[in-house]
Amino acid sequence: MQQRTNVQSKPDRQVVEGECRSDVFLCDTNSANMSACECGCEHYVRSCLLKAPCCGKFYVCRLCHDDVEDHQMDRFRVTEVKCSLCDTVQQSQQMCEKCRVAFGEYYCSICHLFDKDKKQYHCLPCGICRIGPKENYFHCEKCNLCLASNLRGNHKCVPDVSRQNCPVCLEDIHTSRTGAHVLPCGHLLHQTCFDYMHKMGGYRCPLCMHSAWNMKHCWEEMDKQISETPMPSEYQGITVKVPLLQPEHLYAPPSCVRNIQAVVPLHVRQRRGFVDAR
Ligand SMILES: [Zn+2]
Ligand SMILES: [Zn+2]
Ligand SMILES: [Zn+2]
Ligand SMILES: [Zn+2]
Ligand SMILES: [Zn+2]
Ligand SMILES: [Zn+2]
Ligand SMILES: [Zn+2]
Ligand SMILES: [Zn+2]
Repeated sequence: MQQRTNVQSKPDRQVVEGECRSDVFLCDTNSANMSACECGCEHYVRSCLLKAPCCGKFYVCRLCHDDVEDHQMDRFRVTEVKCSLCDTVQQSQQMCEKCRVAFGEYYCSICHLFDKDKKQYHCLPCGICRIGPKENYFHCEKCNLCLASNLRGNHKCVPDVSRQNCPVCLEDIHTSRTGAHVLPCGHLLHQTCFDYMHKMGGYRCPLCMHSAWNMKHCWEEMDKQISETPMPSEYQGITVKVPLLQPEHLYAPPSCVRNIQAVVPLHVRQRRGFVDAR
């Protein structure tokens, strides 16, 4: 999403090598605790710039790079960083070899991720760092994704589910910095997109139309309303077929799905005036 809140953005930021320096919050160098300084960009708290392996320019992070360049930066190929305090260019490491400032409370030597300590951990099967704490998550081999521990043995696995884009914003989920929400059907969307969908009155998985949470009370209320509004005599006893789509039918051929139907009494809910086949 392009509309990130960006309090410190400047129109000319980060287009020329080294210029991103102006975007770095310079630390109070007299500060007693150097590692606690709040430098970085809108995405990460860090005191160094990464040398983009693609174009050789220095950016605070790959997202800042991707925002202004026409190509994407491969975080795994970063080898050099530049200290935001003393400008020394050096191998990617956690601490400046010259002024000894910590580039980040957290450092991953695989992703070259520097940030404030958010209890991050690097998940090898995911291939990236995730925000922990690690003991609150497990990597589900089938979904091929780190999920909250309370979902262990308690969710519907969809193979490689996070490699599909979010059905709401159509953006990447696997490497997203926004957490994922697992629907009862096993499909994933960003937590923020789920919250938005919920707020807008959506209650179904956008991919398979399965309920996004337990709708028991809602259905009971509907059944009650229906029983209190009998159909006119000419419609009584009439039934209709409705598709019964299950999440696993999502990628099934239409010919197969067509046959999965339920026969239910026709009912027009007069209060709202639409056909409610339940
Ligand atoms: Zn580049
Ligand atoms: Zn950034
Ligand atoms: Zn330094
Ligand atoms: Zn990592
Ligand atoms: Zn993982
Ligand atoms: Zn799973
Ligand atoms: Zn989304
Ligand atoms: Zn679904």
